Amino acid sequence: SAACPDALAILHLKRDLLTPTVLRTYDDEQLGYAEGKVTTTRYGNYPHSTLIAQPWGSQIRASLVDTGTRGRVGLHLGSGKKRKREPSSRNQRDGSPPVERSIEPGPEHTTSPELKSTKPPIPAPTGFCHILPPTPEIWTASLPHRTQVVYTPDYSYILQRLRVTPGTTLIEAGAGSGSFTHAAARAVFDGYPKDAATLSHDQSTQELPTAPLRTGRVWSFDFHEQRVQKLAAEIQEHGLEGIVTATHRDVYQDGFALDGPSSNPTINASAVFLDLPAPWMALRHLTRHPLSPLNPLVSVHLCTFSPCIEQVQRTVSALRSLGWLEIEMVELSSHRIEVRRERVGLQEEGLRGVNASPATLEEALGRLREVEGRDRSYHHGMTSQTQGEDLADEATGEYVSKQQRLQHIRDAQADRKLYNEGRLVHRSEPELKTHTSYLVFAILPRAWTDDDERKAHEWLGAAP
Ligand code: SAM
Repeated sequence: SAACPDALAILHLKRDLLTPTVLRTYDDEQLGYAEGKVTTTRYGNYPHSTLIAQPWGSQIRASLVDTGTRGRVGLHLGSGKKRKREPSSRNQRDGSPPVERSIEPGPEHTTSPELKSTKPPIPAPTGFCHILPPTPEIWTASLPHRTQVVYTPDYSYILQRLRVTPGTTLIEAGAGSGSFTHAAARAVFDGYPKDAATLSHDQSTQELPTAPLRTGRVWSFDFHEQRVQKLAAEIQEHGLEGIVTATHRDVYQDGFALDGPSSNPTINASAVFLDLPAPWMALRHLTRHPLSPLNPLVSVHLCTFSPCIEQVQRTVSALRSLGWLEIEMVELSSHRIEVRRERVGLQEEGLRGVNASPATLEEALGRLREVEGRDRSYHHGMTSQTQGEDLADEATGEYVSKQQRLQHIRDAQADRKLYNEGRLVHRSEPELKTHTSYLVFAILPRAWTDDDERKAHEWLGAAP
């Protein structure tokens, strides 16, 4: 349940701003930071020594690091080690000599005494991030886009309609940026990602599951060579080899055969997802022919993802002529609904749609005092109402009778104006990222061989 070396981690900097990074104990990017590997962001710098071993979800403060542009600075976190570093060549791009400066460390920093100077200290960093485990949802929100991608609202629906469960074998084309690929990898393998699986079990029973993990396969195809190479590298970096195989292939032309010798086992898929410009051109390779990549013993569930209705029409006609059944088109429409309070008073003043916020600090404090005062009156009154005691008024310190207090409650309730409290309104946020497309679903029944036909006849003959 903690971020370990060589794991993929996502740094959540602010809403909709996430940065993926592979945690390293060494400077694998060879950028020359004295701290080892450092993820630099516009919200601060994060040496991996401050991220590794932190529980997922932890808040991490940004650190001062030797950025290589400030000259010789030796700053280290945690370990107490101090190292002096020669200025990197990046300091001297403009030909000027490197500047030698010291940095006043924040509370968690240590600096070599020999680096201290009389120059004014650079303020300690104030940014922070949260370190998150790489779930497919978080990966989709942070992955480097090489193409349009399938977003979570679509792929969660698609995977359940395709009946993908741990152990399923799934074909995907095209792989694109690998967004769907990662979601599919989790769906076919019940140990993915390892850390998240551990986390959920730790929280409930403190024990890991003992049942063997069921591992399905995702066979992923794309005809764009660089995209396949990038995806293959990510699969390896994310520890998904053995679950996902990325193959470079034009599936319109060459279908879904596996690379390597012809003795290779066939794919035997029971689920197919096609995110291609012309899915109907790939469908001719997805029939019940002898070298078919489909599992002959089960019904195969298929989904195609197309932005235009003309593509849907061509796909549906190809599906009909190739014997697919239960053909259905679905369009998903996702909205994130934001609920907030809105001041009715301003709306009445003609500022409809404005989310009123206090204009000045005084106004904000005034409103806060008003709400607190009302709250106090209410609870004060409730106590006296139930206990019948005479209590001191918190605001004035004077003793007031039960009768007076009940009147106080009535006054406070009469005072409750919708204008002051705001009423609840909701709006849907239009900018939810979802690649709006039409989803076509279909089912290909299991293969029916001559042998099946003979057995059926025998059975019918034997039946009463
Ligand atoms: N589903 C992907 C994701 O979630 O990241 C995005 C897929 S992208 C929209 C479409 C991909 O189809 C592109 O990467 C393109 O290279 C690939 N493609 C197009 N025609 C192809 C073909 N004939 N064979 C294989 N891949 C193809």
